[in-house]
Amino acid sequence: MAKHSEHPLIIECRCNEITPRGDNPALPHSPKEIIREAVRAWEAGASIFHWHGRDPETGKPRNDVELYLEVIEGIRAQTDLLIHPTLGYITQNQVEDRVRHILAVNDDPVLRVDMVPVDFGSLNVDFWDPQMGQFTTYDQVYVNTRNDLKAVLEVFKRHEIYVASICWDVGQMRTAHCFQEMGLLPRNTFWEFVFTGEVMPAGATSTIPALQAFVAEVPDDNQWLVLCWNGDVMRVASWAITMGGHVGIGLGDHHYSRFGKPHNGELVEKVVQLANMLGREVATPAQAREILKMPSRAQLPTKAVAVV
Ligand code: ZN
Repeated sequence: MAKHSEHPLIIECRCNEITPRGDNPALPHSPKEIIREAVRAWEAGASIFHWHGRDPETGKPRNDVELYLEVIEGIRAQTDLLIHPTLGYITQNQVEDRVRHILAVNDDPVLRVDMVPVDFGSLNVDFWDPQMGQFTTYDQVYVNTRNDLKAVLEVFKRHEIYVASICWDVGQMRTAHCFQEMGLLPRNTFWEFVFTGEVMPAGATSTIPALQAFVAEVPDDNQWLVLCWNGDVMRVASWAITMGGHVGIGLGDHHYSRFGKPHNGELVEKVVQLANMLGREVATPAQAREILKMPSRAQLPTKAVAVV
């Protein structure tokens, strides 16, 4: 199982998603808050940063290009993080809307994003209320038809944008392999496995057999990562660290109130500590680019420079 364990651990910070702030002010809405969390995560050891555009006042999901542009400029000015914005968790929208903010910066050698996420299937995403024994809604569908997938992959192929393949189950991995056969998804992709907590029974439970089922579908020379949406990632993270995978964590995925009111950097730090304990090195962003076989971005600030 240790076939990739020679690589340092890539940690992706997933700072906000569409998650309500609740009582933790560290969950970022505005571009300034998102940049603050990116810098904290980077200082703690994250090499990839993922976020969703949110209304600065209300926190509602917003996909305006300007909201993304401000964050990208802020992160690029202060860190060498790999930039990984969402395509917009806004269902039933047009492909053009989902890629507009990506293409807006793609001709700029500094601002262009490093990777984009593609979810390889549709999902029922209603929340389960374990106390009530009921779903809180019964009609919430995250739509990703194969037509949608084909359309976004064609755009990313044309513009040579690196794709992270987000898979909520093994069927989505098999779907992604079909798009590889079609020549639309590159053979070199970063597999991100979505485990989910009790309140979100749309993905895999955090068990070793579930992780093994995902890993069995990963080609030998590809890298993979675990994350847990609406649940605690730490157990599955420990297995991924020892099996040579990588880890995504952040307030967007889970509140982690067992640690108080942590900010995103503190969550990244917990994964760094876990890796240290288990004897695995943590990757710098430059190393992450190498591990994922991406072109280097030498013009970006490194930690030694940016700390000044
Ligand atoms: Zn996301």
